[in-house]
Amino acid sequence: MDYQEYEQVRSQVMGRGFVIAIDGPSGSGKSSVSRQVAAVLDMGYLDTGAMYRSVAWWCQYKNVDFSDESAIVACVKDVEIKVNAVPHAPRFFVGGMDVKDVIRQPSISNIVSSVSTIPAVREVLISAQRAIIEEAKASGRGIVVEGRDITTVVAPDAAVRILLTASEEVRLQRRSLDDWGSQGPDAIEASRDIVLGRDEKDMTVANFADAAPGVERIDSSDLSLHETVDAVVYTIGRKV
Ligand code: C5P
Repeated sequence: MDYQEYEQVRSQVMGRGFVIAIDGPSGSGKSSVSRQVAAVLDMGYLDTGAMYRSVAWWCQYKNVDFSDESAIVACVKDVEIKVNAVPHAPRFFVGGMDVKDVIRQPSISNIVSSVSTIPAVREVLISAQRAIIEEAKASGRGIVVEGRDITTVVAPDAAVRILLTASEEVRLQRRSLDDWGSQGPDAIEASRDIVLGRDEKDMTVANFADAAPGVERIDSSDLSLHETVDAVVYTIGRKV
């Protein structure tokens, strides 16, 4: 897409408070893609995975016993989470601490599912996510929201709903490059559990393998980041 085509879609969404919901498995590229789409269309941007990572980090920081679900729930209910839901400088604060960088560590990827698969934790975060979405709708700016259950649970009435997928091999390669700076066999092996093991656990509470009725599926296996952004912006332009 060229600048004029972007401009056309931007004018279609401007001031209308649309919600664009994007789900996908680990390594599908949804965070980078969603963030760029939000920047191009001048919309808000919410990375819900970062919210789950933030509370997982907080529980770890507070030395909560991860085998004790009620202790995790109490810890999550007790803390204030603040989100700067913008594409240029998305920030996350838990208990007043800026956790933007620490939540990206592979050690957090390893524990996050133990927190996110607890229904009472999801209740807390889904209600916080809906409050952010309502604010973006009311402002007219709208918001791109990405995660695992956005198209189905958090915002099933979103103006556009997309499931972003990629082959297992491509997802492993992407995550391995992100986390270890390499796509060598050792790095791929080290990423296997972070990608596939995590998806398996996460799938017990949200279905992000199949596109629900009305959800557009975009496979990014053979697309560059730029091409995937184009495909998503094109889909938005077609749907709104
Ligand atoms: O997208 P990301 O890999 O940062 O997500 C981190 C974790 O947050 C996922 O593995 C999943 O456990 C949880 N998550 C979730 N629901 C969402 C978004 C993320 O359970 N909507």
